[in-house]
Amino acid sequence: MVTRRPNFIIAISGVLASAILAIAVWVLAQMHDDALRRAQDSVFNVSLLIERDVSRNLEIYDLSIRTVIQGLKQPGVAQLDPALRQMVLFDGSATAKDMGSILVIDETGYIKFDSQSVPPRHVYLGDRDYFKVHRDSPNVGLYVSHPFMPRTTGADMSIGLSRRITKADGSFGGVVVGTLRLKYFRRLFEGMNLGAGGSMALMLSDGTMLMRRPYDPKTIGINLTGTANYSRFVEQPSGDFFGTAAIDGVERWYAFRHIDMYPLILDVALSTRDIYVGWRRRAWIIGPLIGALDLTLIALAVLFAQQMRGRLLAEEELRVLARTDGLTGVDNRRTFEHALESECRRVQRHGGPLSLLLIDVDNFKGFNDLYGHSAGDDALITVARCIVRNVQRSGDTMARYGGEEFAVLLPDTDQDGARALAETIRASVEALALSHVASSHHVLTVSIGVATMRGEALTPSRRLVDAADQALYAAKDAGRNRVFTSGASTPAGRDSGMVVVSR
Ligand code: GH3
Ligand code: MG
Ligand code: MG
Repeated sequence: MVTRRPNFIIAISGVLASAILAIAVWVLAQMHDDALRRAQDSVFNVSLLIERDVSRNLEIYDLSIRTVIQGLKQPGVAQLDPALRQMVLFDGSATAKDMGSILVIDETGYIKFDSQSVPPRHVYLGDRDYFKVHRDSPNVGLYVSHPFMPRTTGADMSIGLSRRITKADGSFGGVVVGTLRLKYFRRLFEGMNLGAGGSMALMLSDGTMLMRRPYDPKTIGINLTGTANYSRFVEQPSGDFFGTAAIDGVERWYAFRHIDMYPLILDVALSTRDIYVGWRRRAWIIGPLIGALDLTLIALAVLFAQQMRGRLLAEEELRVLARTDGLTGVDNRRTFEHALESECRRVQRHGGPLSLLLIDVDNFKGFNDLYGHSAGDDALITVARCIVRNVQRSGDTMARYGGEEFAVLLPDTDQDGARALAETIRASVEALALSHVASSHHVLTVSIGVATMRGEALTPSRRLVDAADQALYAAKDAGRNRVFTSGASTPAGRDSGMVVVSR
């Protein structure tokens, strides 16, 4: 029964606690995964949004530059009235907050036409990277320059989008460049919600940083070639990964993409800390709660098991007390009667002999009178131990039958065997040599009555006891310190129906 097995209760509580723990760990792991998935979605969406905005604006700006180139090809444009020429060349140009000026630069590097000024500002731009690139190669198409501080205004770091002017004979005829303030990207980045540790960066394909959030003017223009993150950006057109920024050393989840048709790479990243901050807060609540729950469960089970163990122990003690004799510790009369009944029934079912020894201490009243009741008690204990030492077979029952009387029930033991054992016991007690000066034997002795019966003779069981008692009586009568055996099978005897054989 479950309720009677303390260890089982502890085991069950252990299993329950483990199950609760396992479920909690599983739920937390799921929540951890979900947090990352949400972060992945969010950086992906933000990067897509920014890419769309940037590529749309660059496309519009490029269109304006192409319009200017087309306009320059119209015959007589150079000879037009300046105001009219401005209209032809620049009126269709896109104008937006962060778009600077569109400049037509001649092959010598000086501004020829200027969308912002008539006459054009006299500025030399032949040393700019976009000028040199187009001058040295006819097939660049749209070129996105490294960041620079515009010489025309002297304010606001910008990049230039440029295309080559090719003369009719195919030779270099200058460059049309449109400047775009980096503020545009900064404003775009800052409009996104990325958490405190989030970052975004736009760089040229060669690793030159154009804009970064969090904004730091020092990072504009630096080259990222050789950094771990950049190496991954150039591997694929787009992707995502956990990485650590070279600039600030913060670990983040990155989503990057190459901006469609332009030599630009964009990355958007959420810091690992931000990604898991909500999860961590919940784990700090759930974890200790589950731990406390488990500990309480186990503690209650241990407490319950301890109480049960105590109760079982007390019950066992009571059981032992109920069946043993308080003074000598051997079985008591009640236990003996039970054993006698069950042995008699067993013998009737399966046959075989059943023997009984009744052992009575000789002249014990005199011993008490002479040495005191307490010494009498000690003597009884000593005699009981002496008998127990001789009754070793399992199945034998040795009990205190009365005041100074003991009984030994011997299943499957015939008369000879019982008598031999009785004699051994008698001799052992005598050999104890417990002084008893009032006895004719001078030491404490016992008289033993032996009876052996089989089958129907054992109905009722009292007959065996009576027979042993009579043999004991005879032994007393014959002078004590001797073994007398009762048995119809033995030919010689003094009493009718009982043959008594002295030792
Ligand atoms: P016999 O040889 O005929 O058996 O004589 P006896 O004196 O032993 O027999 P009797 O029945 O006259 O006396 C038994 C005595 O045993 C009486 C009683 O005081 C003593 N007795 C019985 N139980 C205990 C006990 O638990 N402790 C002590 N100290 N004495 C006990
Ligand atoms: Mg007696
Ligand atoms: Mg006696």
